[in-house]
Amino acid sequence: MSTFKYPHNSDLRRLVRFSADDGLIWLAENRMLLMHCAAMSALRTQLIKSVGPESARRILTRMGYESGMRDAELARTIRPDQNPIESFFVGPQLHMLEGSVQVTPVHIHIDVRSGEFDGEFLWEHSWEAEFHLREFGQAADPVCWMQIGYASGYTSAFMGRMVLFKETECACCGANNCRIVGKPVEEWEDGEQYARYFEPDSRIAHLPAAAWAGVAQTDSTQGAPTPTDLIGSSASFRRAYELMLRAAGTTVTVLLLGETGVGKERFARVLHQMSPRKDAPFVAVNCAAIPHDLIESELFGVEKGAFTGAHASRAGKFERAEGGTLFLDEIGEMPLAAQAKLLRALQEGEIERLGDERTRKVNVRVVAATNVDLAQAVKEGRFRPDLYYRVHVYPIHIPPLRERLADLRQLVDSLVAKFNRQHGKHVQGVSDKGFQSLHAHHWPGNVRELENVIERGVVLAPQQGWIEAHHLFLSLEAVLARESGISACGKLEEGCGDAVREQLVEQILRAGIPLEALEQQLMKACVDQEGGNIARAARRLGMSRPKLSYRLQRTEGEAEAADS
Ligand SMILES: [Zn+2]
Repeated sequence: MSTFKYPHNSDLRRLVRFSADDGLIWLAENRMLLMHCAAMSALRTQLIKSVGPESARRILTRMGYESGMRDAELARTIRPDQNPIESFFVGPQLHMLEGSVQVTPVHIHIDVRSGEFDGEFLWEHSWEAEFHLREFGQAADPVCWMQIGYASGYTSAFMGRMVLFKETECACCGANNCRIVGKPVEEWEDGEQYARYFEPDSRIAHLPAAAWAGVAQTDSTQGAPTPTDLIGSSASFRRAYELMLRAAGTTVTVLLLGETGVGKERFARVLHQMSPRKDAPFVAVNCAAIPHDLIESELFGVEKGAFTGAHASRAGKFERAEGGTLFLDEIGEMPLAAQAKLLRALQEGEIERLGDERTRKVNVRVVAATNVDLAQAVKEGRFRPDLYYRVHVYPIHIPPLRERLADLRQLVDSLVAKFNRQHGKHVQGVSDKGFQSLHAHHWPGNVRELENVIERGVVLAPQQGWIEAHHLFLSLEAVLARESGISACGKLEEGCGDAVREQLVEQILRAGIPLEALEQQLMKACVDQEGGNIARAARRLGMSRPKLSYRLQRTEGEAEAADS
């Protein structure tokens, strides 16, 4: 009998969520798989037979190690305030919950600060021992490689130093059960040699699969490299990018089409940088941001005395972009009078400053952009047809983010790196669950919205930690929707079942909201949502109308009494 008692595992069970509708299983923010042991065993057998037991052992140990390290991250967030042993027990308890093995502590000594660790555990029902025995019969040496990897990875991450476990007995070698002992790597006599099983195998790099990955990589980098500003390899994005590239060397007027936030200005800048005009100025004007009566002087300049207040002559954006590129964003918002002058500038390469009779030659490449339907604007008389035909020579449609979700991973990684630098943080990335929430989002604000969401995530995530779903989208509902939890006896519970409620309760307790205040808030929110209809609100809250109005009045009365 063990003298150690595990803390109740409800905090860990709560992390397991089944979202059967979209085929996802979660352990906190990590995506998990419910797999047949038989299938894992077939993979294991195939590995042993194809690369040999030594390499197979390394691969499997390393696999377990990764999984242990992931679970150690949970220990930090789940039981941060408990004593070190209870906090450490997250590992063995998760190893059991995940179905690998039953773990009973025999003795354990932990001192995280001084790095001392000494532990012995009994393993029963090891899946690896059971299936290895079925496949190969009794073995001369212990075979629970993935599990040993898990225990070592978990403990090393937990302790912040390399702690290695060894099986001193294994059920596959004739013992009743497996037994494991863990110590810091330096304390093992053969530590250095043994540690190699826990490191990624350099020989694996020579396997055919690695050669394959190399080929795939060369393929994707073929063609012109995309500058870091324009990230994406999805077909629709590449199409837009290549169209832009072909236009870069010419002087054709390019019209960039696409929803707000897709990165039209970024495209225009890259177009400029790739053109022979790259050393001349790039000038950007947002036509929607300038008042109508000022837009002509902004674009074409003004001569002194042209109107009251024109105290000095001033060059417009056209002149400032001389030799370079002028980016006209939201060209659909330009007033008709300015449109006529723009047409002349495009056709003749000539402009006149306001209040000036002199015509000036300009050499400017115009890139226009719009998120409105210009053809429709022409029909409605808001846009000159001749200008429409002049700017609609070379349209490039930049796809919205939701149509190129294949690029999401690449975009997210580069944004995390960018905001890490900007905010002096070392966030590891977005968790599986966080990424899934990004993937499920509709992105009306496109890449610009993604930038804002990732920046908030980087700021909110802990140092060295992961950006979790709730750092990205602050709604609890979105995270908990359509998932079922698992009860103590292992029963799967429905979406609105206890597990969800437990999670909600936990959040409320953590926020320290007093019961009365919570009740008040709930009642008031419900009455508000029902447009002040007390009867309907009462029905929703499962109470009678008089009871609800009594409770609402009672607290209002108390508030008044407290005020006076
Ligand atoms: Zn074993």
